[in-house]
Amino acid sequence: MALITEASLRAMIKDGIPNPFPLQEEDKITPSAVDFLKGRGIPLKRVNNKEVMEQTNALVAPDLTIPVGVSNRHIHLSPEDVERLFGQGYELTPLKNLSQPGQFAAKEQLTLVGPKGIIHGVRVLGPARGASQVEISKTDGFQLGIHPPVRLSGSIEGTPGITLIGPKGFATLAKGVIIAKSHVHMSPEEAETFQVQDGDSLILQAMGDRPVIFPDVIVRVHPNFVLDFHIDLDEANAAALKTGDTVKVLGKNGVLLSWSRR
Ligand SMILES: [Zn+2]
Repeated sequence: MALITEASLRAMIKDGIPNPFPLQEEDKITPSAVDFLKGRGIPLKRVNNKEVMEQTNALVAPDLTIPVGVSNRHIHLSPEDVERLFGQGYELTPLKNLSQPGQFAAKEQLTLVGPKGIIHGVRVLGPARGASQVEISKTDGFQLGIHPPVRLSGSIEGTPGITLIGPKGFATLAKGVIIAKSHVHMSPEEAETFQVQDGDSLILQAMGDRPVIFPDVIVRVHPNFVLDFHIDLDEANAAALKTGDTVKVLGKNGVLLSWSRR
């Protein structure tokens, strides 16, 4: 059973309130929470527990695991910012391929400058893309004096900016600093195996000395994607995970698989 209050809904705003809002049989919702949803045009949807359990248990195999990919702080650059920082006509130099096809760690590194401090040697990832984006950990944020929200890649509206210093110039971003929200990449075939769709959320558990549970890991499905659970360095350290470890699937969309299937 869950008690849904206006405060708990407000806490969900930054990651998005589900629309319609699912309400299970024993869930309690306060009148102000009902008004809050109404005010935002979000209808309530009664779901019966059996349905939810059946849907969740449709995760086919009981022993599904997902490999972990840990991302340290890094920078994605627009083509314009590449030229601003490295000179006219400059193109990024691939150093190492990343797990997702076509993506690479570039030879190039930059310095991040925030109001409280700087971080040298921050890796640029390629290829260049639409808008520049800087992904840091919460710990990095304290060093820089920048406190960005947790967001999925590409969702940079309303995020803080930062200054980047390169060998040939600097770029001041008005926005684009995020703490990356953990997510899983998978192909459509893998999505079928896991019985999930793009935008679903998985409950995952680390399997080592620190069996941390990640209750809301967003699934990203694309034909070019390879199965990988992406977390930042703070999350990896908290859960004693490193790249190449695996995590266990405990459930999806907020509902645990029944114990017998874990
Ligand atoms: Zn990723």
